[in-house]
Formats: sequence, structure tokens, C-alpha cells
Amino acid sequence: MKITSVEPFILHAPINVPSISDSTHTITHWGIVGVKIGTDDGLFGYGYTGTHAHLESDRLVTSCIAKSYGPMLMGEDARDGDRLWLKLARFPAVQWVGRAGVTHIALAAIDIALWDLRGKAAGLPLWKLLGGATTELLEAYNTDIGWLSIPKDRLVDGSKRAIEHDGFRRLKIKVGHADPMIDIDRFEAVRKAVGPSVTIAIDANGKWDLPTCQRFCARAEPLDVFWFEEPMWYDDVGSHAALARSTSIPVALGEQLYTADAFNTFIGAGAVQYVQPDVTRVAGITEYIQVAHNAHSHRLPVVAHVGDMGQVHVHLSYWHPATSMLEYIPWIKDCFVEPIKVEDGHYVRPQMPGAGCTLTDQAVAAFGQSC
Ligand code: MG
Repeated sequence: MKITSVEPFILHAPINVPSISDSTHTITHWGIVGVKIGTDDGLFGYGYTGTHAHLESDRLVTSCIAKSYGPMLMGEDARDGDRLWLKLARFPAVQWVGRAGVTHIALAAIDIALWDLRGKAAGLPLWKLLGGATTELLEAYNTDIGWLSIPKDRLVDGSKRAIEHDGFRRLKIKVGHADPMIDIDRFEAVRKAVGPSVTIAIDANGKWDLPTCQRFCARAEPLDVFWFEEPMWYDDVGSHAALARSTSIPVALGEQLYTADAFNTFIGAGAVQYVQPDVTRVAGITEYIQVAHNAHSHRLPVVAHVGDMGQVHVHLSYWHPATSMLEYIPWIKDCFVEPIKVEDGHYVRPQMPGAGCTLTDQAVAAFGQSC
């Protein structure tokens, strides 16, 4: 499986409404920024990272893929995944300019493409290649009903529809208003509408500080909050550890952490209870496995963040024994040959060989941008 081509790509796919916002971001498109790697046996592997579809920023990633990493991959054996990951991740000139950020998410795309290739070569979906499914049914939780930009009445209607019509049993709603009591009011309205048996997590996307979080939690604890995701600035280990000690609501985080080392620090400090790695932000499947196994060895649940909008994570989640559920946001599924699918609140287990990243020709034609 000698690598013969490394072709970066950028797609900007429109989301299912004109725009959405959480406490920190506003989005109209999702960027699918990655690489198609060809081998001398005629196979192609696809891998990508997820972005906010800002073309100049996305081109930093594709430049790193094509110009920094690409020449190091040509002629290599695509089956040597761990060796190639180390070769790229520890290349001194690239490491000097970034052990996180652009260089790391570029490596994520490459690593996913190499796993996709190995799955296709073996004729196995990734979850099978990794060791088989450890759960019969993977639950989906719906984030798409809960954006901060959705007014309260529509938030309540959408939550009820997701439960009563679409079969979900788990929801997540965004929080992060300047006055946290607005978020309490929204949460209470959703809880009242969907009843006590539905789990509802919340996500502040790093917006608040420790006193605001503690004030919020004192009011929220009786409302049965399933987890509190990214309450404060992403890298602030001490404040998350302090919050975790001071509230009964479990702390969830990880979507903004780039490395297994960063996860080690949070886990070691007792600053996280639901571990949320993202295969598109840590350096691909290879590093995700390290994070998930480390969390599992600490008896912590792993619930991935879907920067890939679920295409790869559905495989990883069916496989990994610490995972029993996965986030659901259906923005880009139709760009892929085997789209993610949720039926009656559960992810359908993918069947096609590879990591679920093969783009359709129609998506490339409709949403492709010049690198
Ligand atoms: Mg989040």
C-alpha cells in the first residue's frame, strides 16, 4: 500500500438553517477540510477536520497537509499507521511551529485518511477493524434542538418534537447568557415540556467564569442536569477542578483539547467527569484511542464531540467500551457515501469498509473550494 498521492480538499457545506449561535460562535456553514490519500493498489482514503468554513483559515490547514506533511508521506506504506503518525507528529520543523492548532488538525485529517485506507484494504468498517462493537445499540443525543440563538418557545417545541416524534431520549441545550438566570428559565421550560425521564445536558462553550458557574449550579442542581459541558475557558484546569469539587453536576469537556497530554492534566486534577475527545482536534484516530483508553482506565465515560458531525465517531463510539452515547448534529451527513443515520434515538451501525469519510462526487462539486 505505497502512498502515491496526497490531495487536500476544502468543502463548505451550508447548515440546515441560515445560521446558529452558541455563547461563543456563530455558524452558517461547516467546513470539511482534509485530504484524499491514494495508494498504488488503487484505493483512496479520506480524512478531514471540522472548521467554521473560513476559507483563509482552512487554507492554513490544507497548506500544512500538502506542503509540510505530504512530501513526508509519498512512497510510504499506508499500513504503518503508528510509525507514520510519529514521523509526522515529531517532525522537528513542524513541531517547532505547532504542537497544537493548525498542524495538529492537519495531522488529524491525514491520520483519519490512513485509517480509512486500512479499513478499505481489509474490507472492514473501522469499528470492526478496531476490535468489534462493544455495544448493541449506540444512543444518540440531540444537540441541534438546543442552540442559544433559538428563542425559548421554539426551543421547547423542538425539544418536544425530538422526544415525541424522532425518538430521542437525550438532549443537550446551550447556555451562556450574560444573566445565567435566563438559562435557568430556558432549562426549566424544556424540563417541564419533556418530563423527568429525558436526560438534558447543558453546554456553555467556555463562556463563564467560576463564580458565575457556581451561582448557576446552585440553582440548577435540583433540575437534574445530566452534565455541564465546557463551563469555563478551555485550558483552565484549576477552575474546572474547583467547580467539579463544588457541585454535584458532572463536568464534561474535551472538544477544545488538542493532545492526550492535555486530557491527562484534566483527568489527573479531577477536573472532568465526562471525557469528550474529538478525533478531528486531537491528532486523529491514533491519538483519540490514547485519550479514550486513558479515560477508561480511570473509569470515566467517554462521549465524543462531533467535529466530524459523527461520520468517524459513530465507528469509534460503537467500538470503545467506555462509550454508550454520541452527539447528533445532522448538518453534513449527505456529503458522504455512507451518511450517519439515527433511528428511534439510536445510531445505525455503519457497514461500509473504512472510516465513513468518503465524500460523494455531488458534494465535492457543490461545496468544493479552491485550496
Ligand atoms: Mg460542546
